[in-house]
Amino acid sequence: MTVRVRFAPSPTGRLHVGNVRTALMNYLFVRKNNGAFILRIDDTDLERSTQGYEDGIKEDLAWLGMKFDETFNQSHRFKLYNEIAAKLKDAGMLYPCYETSEELDRQRKLQRVQSKPPVYNRAALELTAEQISAYEGEGRKPHWRFKLSGNPVIWNDIVRGEQKIETSSISDPVLIRADQSFLYTLPSVIDDIDAKITHVIRGEDHVTNSGAQIEIFHAVNKLLGADILPEFAHTPLLVGKDGKGLSKRLGSLSMKDLRENGLEPMAVNSLLARIGTSVAVSSEAEISTLIESFDFGNIGRAPARFDEEELLQLNAKLLHITSYSQVKERLDKMNIGGGEPLWNLMRANLNKVSDMASWSTMIFAPMSGQIPDEDKEFCTIAATLIPDDIDESSWSALTSALKEQTDRKGKSLFMPLRLALTGHVHGPDMGKILPFLGAEKARARLKGEIG
Ligand code: GLU
Repeated sequence: MTVRVRFAPSPTGRLHVGNVRTALMNYLFVRKNNGAFILRIDDTDLERSTQGYEDGIKEDLAWLGMKFDETFNQSHRFKLYNEIAAKLKDAGMLYPCYETSEELDRQRKLQRVQSKPPVYNRAALELTAEQISAYEGEGRKPHWRFKLSGNPVIWNDIVRGEQKIETSSISDPVLIRADQSFLYTLPSVIDDIDAKITHVIRGEDHVTNSGAQIEIFHAVNKLLGADILPEFAHTPLLVGKDGKGLSKRLGSLSMKDLRENGLEPMAVNSLLARIGTSVAVSSEAEISTLIESFDFGNIGRAPARFDEEELLQLNAKLLHITSYSQVKERLDKMNIGGGEPLWNLMRANLNKVSDMASWSTMIFAPMSGQIPDEDKEFCTIAATLIPDDIDESSWSALTSALKEQTDRKGKSLFMPLRLALTGHVHGPDMGKILPFLGAEKARARLKGEIG
């Protein structure tokens, strides 16, 4: 059996960390099992879905390195959905309801007052032909509900173990709205059957939904003479560092924002693939490493805590092992000189690739070093000791000579030099920076002149 999974975002916004975690669970699992990764665009909501968001989703997946093998849009498949819906109506599995949303609200309020669960009362099943034609006469259009069996639905969830949903305690789901548009529930089942999906991997907010959808799978299978029921894996949701839900903040945690903030895709992948699992989070340069370590058995039941600070740290660690060839194009675009030697020197000091701009300015752009009055004489002496040809040994030669010629040592010797030469109190090894500066700049800066 070939493993086939689908990632099914709605193009009503950009992908955020929550969606991407679901995408990764699908992607890592399917690549580990040499199966097919299908991108399904859930755009049945024609008003809220846009081409721009669809393009954005594909762009984000490409940025993250998740290639899909097949893709299709639900909006191209209404004919099939309508055919199957018609058959479900004929079979009495889909029944028309005429309640307005205000009426349904009122009903739920009443149930609450009576301490009853807010389950749809199926009044529509009792409507007589006269009542129906009266509603139609008023111009009301029906919405359509799927008739659940009232029996428990049981499945063995790959992440959560045995799950049992009492369909008697949930409302018959609305599959078609009064304006004839489809909610995602039925198209999703039809597509999963049609695309021969073997595993439905999604967030645990879909667990109850799965109870209803499994009954819909059985009904649609029967109509199509098919026999497809995927396995289900419902993964815990992401929460913030404080344990609170992320839903309000998800808007600012989109891939677009993270990318624009200079985060690396593999830092995002490294974090989202492993938080909430028993595998330690570490910066991985290759997605193949995440594929190798993926196992549903590693996923815990507790929500996964997403911490932006951790993401930044992973980003920095990733840059420390990122080779020049991986960033050359971006550095060229930023007009950063120094080539591979400068990258190798600086990468351990970076949080983001864009930090290279300030380091490179520090070295190459003309500036006058900062020299407090009490260090002026000392720095002037240092300037005279700078050789014409600077190499990696020049820094230790310079500091040894200064130790002999002045009474300075330790911090009082090194700090004024670093500050005068770079304008910063921290930074990469001065022995390595000095050759980049060159003799002329070094002497000028130590003399307090612009160099
Ligand atoms: N479009 C649905 C969502 O984003 C897909 C859920 C599913 O994977 O079945 O929630």
